[in-house]
Amino acid sequence: FKILNCLINNAVKFTNEGEVNFGFKVAGKFLEFYVKDTGIGIDPKDQNVIFDRFSKIRSDKTNLYGGTGLGLAISKAFVESLGGKIRFNSTPNMGTAFYFTIPLKVTAKDKENKDHDNYLSNIKPGRQVLVVEDEIMNYIYLEEILSDIDAIIFHAKTGKEALKIFQKKTKLNLVLMDIKLPDTNGYILTKQFKSIRPNLPIIAQTAYAMEGDRQKALEAGCDDYISKPIDSDKLFGILNKFINKS
Ligand code: ADP
Repeated sequence: FKILNCLINNAVKFTNEGEVNFGFKVAGKFLEFYVKDTGIGIDPKDQNVIFDRFSKIRSDKTNLYGGTGLGLAISKAFVESLGGKIRFNSTPNMGTAFYFTIPLKVTAKDKENKDHDNYLSNIKPGRQVLVVEDEIMNYIYLEEILSDIDAIIFHAKTGKEALKIFQKKTKLNLVLMDIKLPDTNGYILTKQFKSIRPNLPIIAQTAYAMEGDRQKALEAGCDDYISKPIDSDKLFGILNKFINKS
């Protein structure tokens, strides 16, 4: 379970001594999971930003720890996309407890759900998607979302890997392109792919939700863009538009 994995990783990362434990209970119509640690805790002044993208609390203590600052933002988006909530209690030097809920059954069929179902039913199963993404947490999150449309997913962590898959898998239907890559960037890669297969839809994943990135992505030839952390309904909307084309 990807959310638990992120929370447990954090708990272990920010706990030098003591213990980490986790579990769940049934709470009404929800399952409530918890991950508790006896680690360094989160300073009250930082507590309102830890779910923000790229938030890493910088202090003498925490700059020892690696990480992207995306894990919690993605976990929150994911929990909420499933209809749950995520929260935490933390005391510096005492520890932190994260809680999140997942509905046992999704009953309400609101408009969003109908749109969602329409999108899904329009997407043919077995579509081939190349996900170019170097951050494993982001990839896992995308993999989870894409499992809803029974896509065949290829994963590239670098530009080099992406090019190899692009050359070998001539039946690709769509590319989800990360911009920041270890050996190149998504703009260069998009230009390269488009010069060979101009009709292959390429969707940029712009991490910074910045106008400049979006503009550059479109200029490089991307068909559209989506900002991280990726909202599953937005992604399905985009997939619906492009994935059946080639
Ligand atoms: P990162 O990749 O930096 O771990 P996250 O989004 O997962 O990114 O977490 C954001 C920040 O929140 C962390 O850098 C850390 O400062 C703080 N944090 C998260 N979990 C804990 C925890 N269990 N104990 C203390 N601090 C935490």
